[in-house]
Amino acid sequence: RFIVFEGGDGAGKSTQAALLAKALRERGHTVLHTREPGGTPIGEKLRSLVLDHGQGTVDARTEALMYAAARAAHVEQVIRPALAAGTMVICDRFIDSSLAYQGIGRELGEDAVRAINEFATGGLLPDLTVLLDVSPAAGRSRRIVDADGQSVSEDRLESEPDSFHLLIRDAFVHFATREPARYLVLDATTGITELAEAIFGTVSNLLNG
Ligand code: C5P
Repeated sequence: RFIVFEGGDGAGKSTQAALLAKALRERGHTVLHTREPGGTPIGEKLRSLVLDHGQGTVDARTEALMYAAARAAHVEQVIRPALAAGTMVICDRFIDSSLAYQGIGRELGEDAVRAINEFATGGLLPDLTVLLDVSPAAGRSRRIVDADGQSVSEDRLESEPDSFHLLIRDAFVHFATREPARYLVLDATTGITELAEAIFGTVSNLLNG
């Protein structure tokens, strides 16, 4: 099974992904928790290239191709082998982030970004996407430090206005509304434990169903 967490910056994806991984492991599942951009040596390099260069220094098409390249490596080297071995894969961000940030946010168009990502992934899609829906204001107040108290100042999108983050939020919600069977949409401002329970409940149904 392949489960993806999506949502704007500061939504708490990595916290909830880690809690889900822990809950599943406690029940005897083998779980791989990974993230994008990143997840492989080449992916982590691409991550630092695209994130460290700062806003505007990487043009939108180059950026979209770099994310897609990192994803191709991640799918080929990490995600598909794990799924084939029966491991549950939990991933922070996947194609929807590219559709939202590069397709809508950077105005490349959803179809173009989907096309390069279908090429990159060979058509792999999550069984379930958990969308942690967060308003720009709530996300901003939470992305100063993450759950481990680590600074997230590498995040070049901190400098983007709320209007940008609102576009991204609406895009995620739109994707979820279009395909409700593959999404669980939750209000990211709900308490951490309550969110974790809701997510675990849905994932348990998926595993038993
Ligand atoms: O989720 P994480 O904080 O690790 O993402 C790092 C940064 O990359 C965030 O600012 C996120 O908005 C951005 N990003 C992006 N396009 C993607 C994936 C992530 O702009 N496809």
